[in-house]
Amino acid sequence: MGSFDIFSQSQFLLTTLSMLGVLFLSALYAGRSVKIRASLWLLSFALLVDFLAAGMGYRIGIVYADGGSFISYIFVELVLYLLSMVLMALSASQFLIHGYPEKWVTGGVSGLGLFAIVFFLVVFPDGGMVENMRQIFPLAGFVYISISLWSEIRQKNKGGYILAALATSVVAGLLLARFFKMLGQFVNDMWWLSAAYYLVMSFAYLMMYVDSVKDELLKNEGQIEKNNERLQEIIKSAPFPIIISRVVDDKIILANNNAIKLFGIDGADLDQCHFRDFFADADNRRLLSERLEQERVVQDFEILVKTHGSDTPFWLLASVNIIDYNYDVVLYSAFQDITSRKTRETLLKNQATRDPLTSLYNRRYFEDEVSKQILNAKAEQQPFSVLMLDADFFKKVNDTYGHKVGDKVLIELSSTAERALRDNDIVARYGGEEFVVFLPGIGAEQARLVADRVRESIAAVVVYSDDNQPVKFTVSIGVSTSEVSDNVDMLIRTADEALYRAKQNGRNRVEIFTPDDLRHFEADGQKERKDESQNHHPALDKNNNMEISLLDGAEANLTEREKPLVDANRSVKPIVLGVDEEDL
Ligand code: GH3
Ligand code: MG
Ligand code: MG
Repeated sequence: MGSFDIFSQSQFLLTTLSMLGVLFLSALYAGRSVKIRASLWLLSFALLVDFLAAGMGYRIGIVYADGGSFISYIFVELVLYLLSMVLMALSASQFLIHGYPEKWVTGGVSGLGLFAIVFFLVVFPDGGMVENMRQIFPLAGFVYISISLWSEIRQKNKGGYILAALATSVVAGLLLARFFKMLGQFVNDMWWLSAAYYLVMSFAYLMMYVDSVKDELLKNEGQIEKNNERLQEIIKSAPFPIIISRVVDDKIILANNNAIKLFGIDGADLDQCHFRDFFADADNRRLLSERLEQERVVQDFEILVKTHGSDTPFWLLASVNIIDYNYDVVLYSAFQDITSRKTRETLLKNQATRDPLTSLYNRRYFEDEVSKQILNAKAEQQPFSVLMLDADFFKKVNDTYGHKVGDKVLIELSSTAERALRDNDIVARYGGEEFVVFLPGIGAEQARLVADRVRESIAAVVVYSDDNQPVKFTVSIGVSTSEVSDNVDMLIRTADEALYRAKQNGRNRVEIFTPDDLRHFEADGQKERKDESQNHHPALDKNNNMEISLLDGAEANLTEREKPLVDANRSVKPIVLGVDEEDL
C-alpha cells in the first residue's frame, strides 16, 4: 500500500516506523492469546515486508531519476510484494480456519507469482504488467485480510474484528481505486495512510486479544457449567449418601436422595440446612475440621451424627474432600452407615468386659481397672475400699423357684446395688452370686455406711416368681480397705474373709477386715479359707453340712438366727432369705 511520500521526509518515515513499532508491540501483547497469535504475527510481518517493498519503490524512483539500471530493484520490490501477499494470505487463512492452506496451494501461488515476475521483467519485459503486479499483489493481500476479518464477525465478541475489517477494507478500497487510477496523485500524498492503518490495527489487535480472552472465559464458563451438571448427575445417582456444603458458611448446597433419606432432610428446606446441624458431637466435628485444614482430604473418618427428626445419634464413616464447585470452595462428603458395625464393636467390647446376665463388669475388667485406680489413688494419697457381696441362701431361691427366678434376683440385686452406689464406683459380678465393688476415695468408716446402704436397699427389693409369689433376698458384705492392702488380689481375699465372717455371724450384715485382722489372717493360713471360698461358704461346708431346702423342712438344721428365714405361710408373706423375723 506504501505511499512513496513516506520516504520523502524523515518525519514521515519516523512517524510511520513508530506506528509500525506500536503495531509489533501490540502483536507481542495480543499474541499471548494462542488463538490469534499466528494470524497477528503473520499480518504484522506482511505489513513490514509491504513497507520494505514500498521503500524499494522509493529507491527505484531515485535510481530512475538518476538514469541508472533499476531492473534488479524492481525484481526485489516485486518479490517483496509477492512475499507480503503470501504472508497476508496465510494470516487470512489463520483468521478463517486457524490453520494454513495446503502447501501446494501456497507453493503454487508463490511459484506462479515468481514466474510472472521473471517473465514480465526479464523474458518478455512488459512495463504495464510490471506496474500492475506492483499494485495487484498488495491489493490481493489486503482483500484476503479484509474478507477473513469480516467473516470473523459472526463471533460473539467481535469489536476488534470489526475495527480491523473496516480499516483493512478502507485500505483495500483505496488500493483498488488507485489500481483503476481513480485517485490520481492524491493517493501518493497520503503519506499518513500507512501510519494511521498501523495505529488502528494495533488498537484492533488489543481489542481482538480482549475479545479472545472473553471468548475463552465464556467457553470455560460453559465448560464449568457442563462439568457441574455432570458432577450433579454423578452425585444424584450415587448409591451412597453425598452432601456438598459450602466452606464459607457451612450451608448445604447439594444432597443426593440417599443423603436426604439418611439425614431426614426435607428436600424443600435444603437451603436452610448446615452441615454442622448433623454432628452429634462437637469435638468430633472439630477434629474433622482440623484434619481437613491440614490435609484437605480426609478418608474413613468416623462421625457421630444425628438426624433432623430425632436426636438418637448414629455412626457414619465419612470421606470428605475440599473441592471447587460452582465458583465455591466446598466440602464434598460421602458417607457410609456403620451403625451396625459400631454396635457389633460395642457388643464385642462389652462381651470382653461385661457379664451377660447382669450387664455388670466382669471379674477380669474389675481387676484390671481397679489396679489402675489404686495406682492413681496411691499417687494422690486417697483412701479406697473394696466390698465383697454374696447373696444369702441363694441356692434356696434356685431350688424353690427355679433358675429363672434366681437369675431375676441376680439382675435386680445388681441394678439395686448399682443404683445405691456412685457413678465412679466400680461394680462387678465376681462369679455366681458374688459381687465386688471398688469405692474410690472412701475409707473404712464410710465404707461401712455405704455397704450398709447397699445391703438395706437390696433387702427392700421384692421379685416375683412365675406364679406371682413375692421373693425377698438379702446379701452379706465383707469390706476391706486401703489400710489393709494396696493389692487388688489381697483386697479381694481379705474382703472375702470379712464376708465369711458376716455369713458366720448371721448373714444380711456387714463385716470389716481391719489391719489388726491381717496378722491373724496371714498366720492362720489364709490358703485354707481361700479353698473354702471356692466351695461357697458355711452353708455347704463340711462343718455345717446341711442341705437347705424349703420343702423338706431343713430349717430344723438352722441356728436360732437362721430359723425365721423360712416363712411357713409363704404364699401370703414374702419368703425372706437371711433376715430375722423381727426385722420384717
Ligand atoms: P450362702 O448364704 O452361704 O451364700 O448360701 P448360698 O446358697 O447363697 O451359697 P451357695 O454357694 O451354696 O449357692 C450359690 C448358688 O448360686 C449355687 C448356684 O446354683 C447359684 N448360682 C450361681 N450362679 C447363678 C446364676 O447365674 N443363676 C442362678 N439362678 N443361680 C446361680
Ligand atoms: Mg450365697
Ligand atoms: Mg457364694
